[in-house]
Amino acid sequence: MRLIDIGVNLMSRQFEGDRADVLARAREAGVERMVVTGTDLRSSEAAAEVTGREGAEVELWSTAGVHPHHASDFDDATAARLRALHREDRVVAVGECGLDYNRNFSPREAQLSAFEAQLGLAAEAGLPVFLHQRDAHDEFLAVLRNAWPSLSRGAVVHCFTEGPEAAADYLELGCHLGITGWVCDERRGGDLRRAVAEIPADRLLLETDAPYLLPRSLDPKPASRRNEPMHLPEVLATVATLRGTSPEEVAKTAWDATHAVFGLP
Ligand SMILES: [Zn+2]
Repeated sequence: MRLIDIGVNLMSRQFEGDRADVLARAREAGVERMVVTGTDLRSSEAAAEVTGREGAEVELWSTAGVHPHHASDFDDATAARLRALHREDRVVAVGECGLDYNRNFSPREAQLSAFEAQLGLAAEAGLPVFLHQRDAHDEFLAVLRNAWPSLSRGAVVHCFTEGPEAAADYLELGCHLGITGWVCDERRGGDLRRAVAEIPADRLLLETDAPYLLPRSLDPKPASRRNEPMHLPEVLATVATLRGTSPEEVAKTAWDATHAVFGLP
């Protein structure tokens, strides 16, 4: 069984001390490939550098973009440096980018303009977009729908946490959906757990979003509460149960769907 984690914040400071061990443990757990998430210029540039290294146990690609939390920092100079990253071979998506009205770490106007600018970069680069959305579904969908005709390579709604109705909106547009350990949380994940059974197999991708979102069902839980890509099988097992199929089947279809949307060899 081969696994690919489409959302790992590998350049996070939380992995600074033991990044090689994190990769080794992931490989041991069957995670052969990863798409490393860029959330600002620093992490996007660091991710692009790490993916280029030869001989790593886990094969890495990356995204380059600015998360809505950091949207206030997005300007023309940022766009220029992202554009250069988007031309690199192993940078396979623009993002993560989008809207987060849950925490509003950046003002909404700044979030909107950074989001629209990055959708433009994706159109220009001919790359898929890697999207983040929290508590902003309607406005986010309107912006995305507007840009959709120019997005020749489509989009991944990463860390999808909502219910069947929101899922249907994204699926109808043509998006892929990334499922994290949120699905392992019976308390908070009820809507998502209902949606997961209805997502077509060729649109469903798996991710940990490590070091965030430690699957609640893990037993025992690490004392650090830090999530790692080695916990992707926990997400896989939960998704398979909810879909009434085997982990092997979900792993296979998610692997194929991931390679298709990101254009991986
Ligand atoms: Zn995110």
